[in-house]
Amino acid sequence: MSRRLSMALPSKGRLREPSWSLLEASGVDPQEPGERVLQAHCRNADIDLLFVRADDVPEYVQDGVVDCGITGLDLIYERDSDVEVLLRLGFGTCSLQAAVSMEDSATRIEDLEGRRIATSHPRTAAKILAERGIRAEVVQVAGSVEISPRLGLADAIIDLVSTGSTLRTNGLRSIGTLFESEAVLVGRKGSIDLEARRTLTMVLGSVINARANRYLLMNVTKDRLAEVTAVLPTKGSPTVIDLVTPGVVAVHALVPAADIWSLLPKLEACGASSILTLPVERMVP
Ligand code: AMP
Repeated sequence: MSRRLSMALPSKGRLREPSWSLLEASGVDPQEPGERVLQAHCRNADIDLLFVRADDVPEYVQDGVVDCGITGLDLIYERDSDVEVLLRLGFGTCSLQAAVSMEDSATRIEDLEGRRIATSHPRTAAKILAERGIRAEVVQVAGSVEISPRLGLADAIIDLVSTGSTLRTNGLRSIGTLFESEAVLVGRKGSIDLEARRTLTMVLGSVINARANRYLLMNVTKDRLAEVTAVLPTKGSPTVIDLVTPGVVAVHALVPAADIWSLLPKLEACGASSILTLPVERMVP
């Protein structure tokens, strides 16, 4: 009998909700925890969940308290955690950016040479600045990094940015990106239950792949089939099925969701009709 897999999930913050909905979409059916519940089981999978802060997940996984967990790539990097990144999850995307106040003369990260920089990611900031040959003083702050320049604590900040609105609200301007991050599934190095972990990675990966694609269906006359297939941005071969109506075929293909917007007018121009797009639940290549 295989051992149950233990998994740490963010209990609060930005990564909590999308981590939870990924598990639900993957069909492992986790039991909804109450506000104060720290552990839960999955109803139809041999997985035990532990709810902890996203910041603590790298350590829990590294120390073998759990087999795997979901956290931000930035947190793994900042803690220099010795864990294995099993899967990029496509949410919690953000970048670690350097920013200065609007009036500052700096326009590039290199312009921070000799200056004082506030950040809650001191290790990552120091490492990347050193890699780029920039000597600067890095000051660690725990929160509200954006107000440091206004308080006179620092000349610049290095902070996580997703939309940039927090920077703008605080009168700051980005001068460059140091690191791109997103939520990741991480596993303990040398974990003993590789089979269960591989299954979890495959199942979660099938949902993430599926989210990025749409199933496209349309009809077209055979004489214009080549035109339609030429514009389809599919990696594999589309499926072509004869319809009862002579000379007309149905074309089915999997296409990137991001391409749908530009693709539909092209397909219409190629004579395609009855065009449908459907969401895909799972995709195992
Ligand atoms: P939390 O502090 O628990 O809300 O989670 C913070 C994590 O969410 C970070 O470590 C990043 O991986 C991710 N994240 C995504 N966008 C942002 C953002 N704009 N600011 C801070 N963290 C972000």
